[in-house]
Amino acid sequence: MKIAILPGDGIGPEISTATRHVIEAADRKHGLGVDFTRIDIGFAALERSGSTFPDSAFDEAREAEALILGPVSHLDYPAREKGGLNPSGELRKRLDLYANIRPAATRPDLPSRTGAQFDLVIYRENTEGFYADRCMHTGPGELQVTADVTLAMRRITRHASMRIAEAAFRGAMARRKKVTAVHKQNVLKITDGLFLACCRDVAARYPEVEYDELIIDAACAHLVRRPDAFDVIVTTNMFGDILSDLASELSGSLGLAASVNAGEGVAMAQAQHGSAPDIAGQGTANPASLIGSTGMLLEWLGGQQQRPELAKAGADILAALDRTLQTPATRTRDLGGSLGTDDFAAAVADQLSAA
Ligand code: NAD
Repeated sequence: MKIAILPGDGIGPEISTATRHVIEAADRKHGLGVDFTRIDIGFAALERSGSTFPDSAFDEAREAEALILGPVSHLDYPAREKGGLNPSGELRKRLDLYANIRPAATRPDLPSRTGAQFDLVIYRENTEGFYADRCMHTGPGELQVTADVTLAMRRITRHASMRIAEAAFRGAMARRKKVTAVHKQNVLKITDGLFLACCRDVAARYPEVEYDELIIDAACAHLVRRPDAFDVIVTTNMFGDILSDLASELSGSLGLAASVNAGEGVAMAQAQHGSAPDIAGQGTANPASLIGSTGMLLEWLGGQQQRPELAKAGADILAALDRTLQTPATRTRDLGGSLGTDDFAAAVADQLSAA
């Protein structure tokens, strides 16, 4: 099984190496026959090739059966014409990874930032919206009219809205059967009007799923006040990006924030957070986010390709992660523990091997 790891910037290389150790433990247990490829992107690639996401990186990535993307420091990248491409946006767009599935859940005995226990999943549309690097066919979705006048365009299509809504309702059928569409239709009447119309169309085909709607600002308040009221949230790109950081931090730490970007037959594991330059190089980042993303990815691939050994490897990684997080002595600093990135990964690998 060919797995490509794109380490990225900041804490990316640290949490990618940690994740690789856990996959190796899963490979020893399940005989997956993993063959790793490392693909340099971000500043490492910029120095060598003049681009943070050279064409060769994309060509190699699309050869792999499974992709694991570390966080990137695209805030600090040069302009696109000087080689500063966002690998995350490029991969999502070029591979049409339209559903960014972002779970957030409290765990028993793990301190969270809320009194309630909750378990929710955000289905974030991943290919359009306000994201200037992916919402246009040619040219960016941002314009500068004069030195003092700028414009940003937001693209919402029926096609993209229907398929993210469909993914969310399918996801809800395997959970507690509730979907909340989050929007700003009170001011974005046309674009979020279309998004909501699509959600309602899909909802009508799933009468067994309870459906409701919340305006994004109120959704933030409800998420803090009663996170346990949510099961599946479906929303547009930028709202999903923001809401999921809030949900993950409420669950304990952004360091727990796993996600998978899924398309038709192809998917990519990616932590929800960024490259955390404030802690990069210290060996203290929590790799649970990328380890959990990889567990989700293997489960997803196993289901898609009808390969039970892959699904089992993914489920075992997620279970080993949960068991490791249960013990205060095997937690990283963001969760009040003292383990470094590598030692946490070793503890997850031990749990995996011992089970
Ligand atoms: P960030 O998500 O990197 O960090 C926010 C806070 O969370 C920081 O205090 C950080 O230390 C902490 N944190 C994040 N991940 C952690 C982990 N695994 N363990 C422990 N603590 C963790 O957000 P930022 O600082 O605003 O962004 C830094 C860079 O990341 C920017 O260049 C931004 O553009 C980029 N970014 C990339 C992605 C991506 O690659 N998908 C996503 C968001 C931001």
